[in-house]
Amino acid sequence: MLPGPIIEQLIDIVGESRLLLGDDDLQRFGIDRTTLWKAAPCAVVLPGSTAEVQAIVRLANQCNLAIVPSGGRTGLSGGAVAKDGELVVALDRINQVIEFNPMDRSVTVGAGMITAKLQEFAEQQGLFYPVDFASSGSSQIGGNIATNAGGIKVIKYGMTRSWVAGLKVINGAGDILELNKGLAKNNTGYDLRHLFIGSEGTLGLICEATIQLARPPVEPCVMVLGVQDFAAIMDVLKCFSADLDLTAFEFFSQQALDKVTAHRGHAAPFETQTPFYALLEFEKTNDAVLDKAMALFEVCVDNGWVLDGVLSQSLTQAQNLWKLREDISETLWHWQPYKNDISVRISRMPDFIKEVDQLVARQYPDFEIVWYGHIGDGNLHLNILKPEALSVDQFHAKCVNVSSEIGQLLAKYEGSVSAEHGVGLLKKDYLHYSRSAVEMDLMRSIKRAFDPNHIMNPGKLFD
Ligand SMILES: Cc1cc2nc3c(=O)[nH]c(=O)nc-3n(C[C@H](O)[C@H](O)[C@H](O)COP(=O)(O)OP(=O)(O)OC[C@H]3O[C@@H](n4cnc5c(N)ncnc54)[C@H](O)[C@@H]3O)c2cc1C
Repeated sequence: MLPGPIIEQLIDIVGESRLLLGDDDLQRFGIDRTTLWKAAPCAVVLPGSTAEVQAIVRLANQCNLAIVPSGGRTGLSGGAVAKDGELVVALDRINQVIEFNPMDRSVTVGAGMITAKLQEFAEQQGLFYPVDFASSGSSQIGGNIATNAGGIKVIKYGMTRSWVAGLKVINGAGDILELNKGLAKNNTGYDLRHLFIGSEGTLGLICEATIQLARPPVEPCVMVLGVQDFAAIMDVLKCFSADLDLTAFEFFSQQALDKVTAHRGHAAPFETQTPFYALLEFEKTNDAVLDKAMALFEVCVDNGWVLDGVLSQSLTQAQNLWKLREDISETLWHWQPYKNDISVRISRMPDFIKEVDQLVARQYPDFEIVWYGHIGDGNLHLNILKPEALSVDQFHAKCVNVSSEIGQLLAKYEGSVSAEHGVGLLKKDYLHYSRSAVEMDLMRSIKRAFDPNHIMNPGKLFD
């Protein structure tokens, strides 16, 4: 419960209607998409400007009040969870287009802008914002930057980091920082902008972002291929990426397809059932590209890697094929999955896959496992579905043990315990499998420099 004088000061900053204290609001704003923790913030505040954010952070420093920055709350690692009486600062109202600059091909937006709105804005200008994923209708650009979100087009366009040309932030000490100011070239020492990208709200609050936009892609073509086994997916990737400029290369298992067709009513891509499917996208820059794709398909069939396949004949068909992959994550929520979001270098993927497959078969003989992911980026989403008979706590306890083994395997392969979802609360105990003790110490020093009183999202990323 917040003391009366702090409530009064927060009301002075944002106005009475922008301070939420009711239980429904605390529950709604105090969590993300994880289900392991209960929301228990002391209050939610909805600032409408960078100046208001700064005043809130200064007040929080005076009162030693912890802040949890909140975006679209679609996070999958507990980064936006407020479970210990923190003040949730939700950026929802700072969501406007601030400046569009066609010559620079950039746009400055409030951090609370929904990702899909930014995509729409770019399209209206004849441009393209290429970071995309299934939650882009709810996630915010500030949350995407704070998690350095990836998604389905990373193989061509990179992660969110690649598109951030400037940031306006309030750090944990309450200072306003304007980082990089949209410059394409700026070699003036440490680039602090990049520290905020992927910082998960632990260094400060992102209030505005200048985003670089791309030229729009030409007609996208989608192929779904039925693949013989896990190892063959990598053969297919190698074969196609050697000769085609791919914009996406995703995979999913038959279990994932079964669930998404049963729950969403989508049609299967073809009649043949195969253990795995690869979904790949490329642009039809000319007719020769289609001939090339068909020739590569034949090579894959001749080698026995691919058993069946379909190539989209229209934009609608391409979008429908994408739904088979894009709707998996939402469909699986029904089973409260334990999600591993792991990556290794592409070149190490074949050996890693073999070992992780054996480990999972050994350790989870009774659990249903659903594989899918951005395999063209070396990123696997390994989802363990909760059996109905187990409580969330019992299920989590079992998964935690296996996660340590997966962590050890990732350390052996020099991989990452969090490819794109961030560390938050869910993966902080495994961070040491991907980061050395020296790196962890340096990260703590960086946090102290930006957030001397340790008020920004404490307990996330590391303790
Ligand atoms: C169905 C589904 C599919 C998904 N697919 C993908 C995917 O393909 N790739 C991917 O990378 N992620 C994916 N995600 C995860 C999630 O959508 C991303 O992590 C997204 O970037 C989170 O944005 P958000 O605005 O919802 O952030 P939140 O969940 O609200 O917050 C995430 C973190 O950022 C911090 N934060 C939020 N806003 C700010 C701010 N303005 N300043 C400072 N810190 C802030 C929070 O404190 C928290 O630590 C998916 C999620 C769902 C539900």
